[in-house]
Amino acid sequence: DEIISMNDVTKSYEKGNIKALNGVNIRIDEGDFVSIVGPSGSGKSTLLNMIGALDKPDRGHVKVAGQNLLENENLSKFRAEKIGFIFQLHNLIPTLSVRENVEIPMYSQKIDSKEMKKRSFELLDYMGLKNRANDNITKLSGGERQRVAIARALVNKPSIILADEPTGSLDSENGIKVLNILKKLHDDENVTLIMITHDQQIAKMANHIIKMKDGKIIS
Ligand code: ADP
Ligand code: ADP
Repeated sequence: DEIISMNDVTKSYEKGNIKALNGVNIRIDEGDFVSIVGPSGSGKSTLLNMIGALDKPDRGHVKVAGQNLLENENLSKFRAEKIGFIFQLHNLIPTLSVRENVEIPMYSQKIDSKEMKKRSFELLDYMGLKNRANDNITKLSGGERQRVAIARALVNKPSIILADEPTGSLDSENGIKVLNILKKLHDDENVTLIMITHDQQIAKMANHIIKMKDGKIIS
């Protein structure tokens, strides 16, 4: 079944001088693993942000998990419930512990603190980081931080995970580790996984590859 669709989506910046997306159409089915590739500036992040409702199109329709995003009046609730974000630079909060960082997305949900703790420990266990739960984020290596970011992305059991260069800041060993976790998650939980990558080998692990150029999908 279809989980994401875009119809003739256009997005410009700088008063229309930069066309980040130019008439994009996509359809992604539930449980798909899609990689997005293309040169720098081709619109990959804009496309991902559009799916995650972090940005709105100038024109066209975006439908995610049965909801028309332009008509949705509570986008932050939608994001917290349906979407897990993983960014290249983790976006973790350095003054908080590992566990507190994982719990951030649950604050906007009505989840009591006992349940929050249970969920964050389960996920940290899954990521091989249970014994680091109370450490400050700054004590962790890059690979460990990226696994914390994945745990945080999963904490509300999202149906869609959006990852922007999730292995981009890691060495190849840690990159493979992070990727294997994502792949396993996709295989075991039927999560729809959409990932931007510069790495051809990584892109090939997906079931579908979207190639972008100049704000358009070229294949
Ligand atoms: P990619 O992820 O493929 O590198 P982006 O989606 O980040 O591409 O960017 C597409 C184009 O839109 C680029 O020319 C970029 O400079 C421009 N762009 C993206 N975000 C903004 C913004 N917030 N303000 C101005 N220009 C932007
Ligand atoms: P690592 O690469 O550090 O071993 P994994 O995520 O593969 O990280 O595993 C971390 C821990 O979580 C391991 O102890 C593993 O047995 C456990 N684990 C892995 N997958 C699952 C799963 N689907 N359900 C429960 N526990 C799991």
